[in-house]
Amino acid sequence: MTGDAFIQIRQVHFVYHPGQPDAVEALRGIDLEVRRGEFLAVVGANGSGKSTLARLLNGLLLPTRGEVRVAGRSTADPAARGEIRRLVGMVFQNPDNQLVAPTVEEDVAFGPENLGLPRDEIARRVRRALEAVGLWERRADPPHRLSGGQKQRVALAGVLAMEPACLVLDEATAMLDPAGRAEVLDAVTRLHREQGITVVLITHFLEEAARAQRVVVMHRGRVVAGGPSAEAFDGPDWLEAVGLAAPPMGRLADRLRRRGWRLPSGIVTVEQLVAALLRPGSPAPGAGDLGGGSAAPGSGGPGMGQRGGGPAAAARNPAAGGVGGG
Ligand code: ADP
Ligand code: MG
Repeated sequence: MTGDAFIQIRQVHFVYHPGQPDAVEALRGIDLEVRRGEFLAVVGANGSGKSTLARLLNGLLLPTRGEVRVAGRSTADPAARGEIRRLVGMVFQNPDNQLVAPTVEEDVAFGPENLGLPRDEIARRVRRALEAVGLWERRADPPHRLSGGQKQRVALAGVLAMEPACLVLDEATAMLDPAGRAEVLDAVTRLHREQGITVVLITHFLEEAARAQRVVVMHRGRVVAGGPSAEAFDGPDWLEAVGLAAPPMGRLADRLRRRGWRLPSGIVTVEQLVAALLRPGSPAPGAGDLGGGSAAPGSGGPGMGQRGGGPAAAARNPAAGGVGGG
């Protein structure tokens, strides 16, 4: 599914207002590759440089130093600019700023029309894009009648109609309610799985990043960590140090671990925690007290009423204490 490097970022620095008294060094030496067909999440606190990085990926911004290559071509090459903008489609945070036309289908047609494509080709693309995000039935609606999640899916369809190779979502769910967030993420996940589209999902929700195959963590203009998503999240203390809130399920798993539960690392979602707790032969300390501690739905949840951790927990977690603040 994933292959060669589609985007290569080499020693990239970016400075806003270079040489001015108010210069801001937003990126300080980024090295990163996005492979073709990969689903990558980029997480980081506010101000860590995520949006700056996003705008460098399709040439909206050019590096102050270093180089960004997309499909082998530098974003600084004026002859490559149009093609790179088409190949790397961006969805931004605010749905209302991205919709321009009186109806959903006219909005989605906007990009292909600007490419000067024939009418039947435009119609084909609009239909395919709206079907991909589940909004074909709503094509005649004015965008302002849609929910936030639906609007973001229209914005996504507008990008898809350009037939990009890569989608960059810059906090595209940040303004949505939980249902809207799920709608957008499900659509993106499906596009990745079924159409092999490359995805760069920028978010500060670690639960969302858990959908990706790989996660990189940004902090003050640098990539400070990265790895398969399940391993990138270890330890609430570490997350707090880079300004990220540990997801509630991650904090709960951490507390259970400190009390001696044997849980795998990288738990961020309810589903992951439930799966870990219900694993056969799982995990409670003193599980004998709790009827075997294995997969017994209806037993009240293995160990959820457990108090204390016992000496084993303390020995395993010498650094215990102080977690779960926020
Ligand atoms: P994030 O998306 O992770 O919140 P940004 O890339 O938006 O981070 O910002 C990185 C840094 O660059 C921050 O210090 C921010 O204040 C600064 N910055 C972002 N946009 C501009 C701008 N247009 N002019 C000046 N500074 C900016
Ligand atoms: Mg941002």
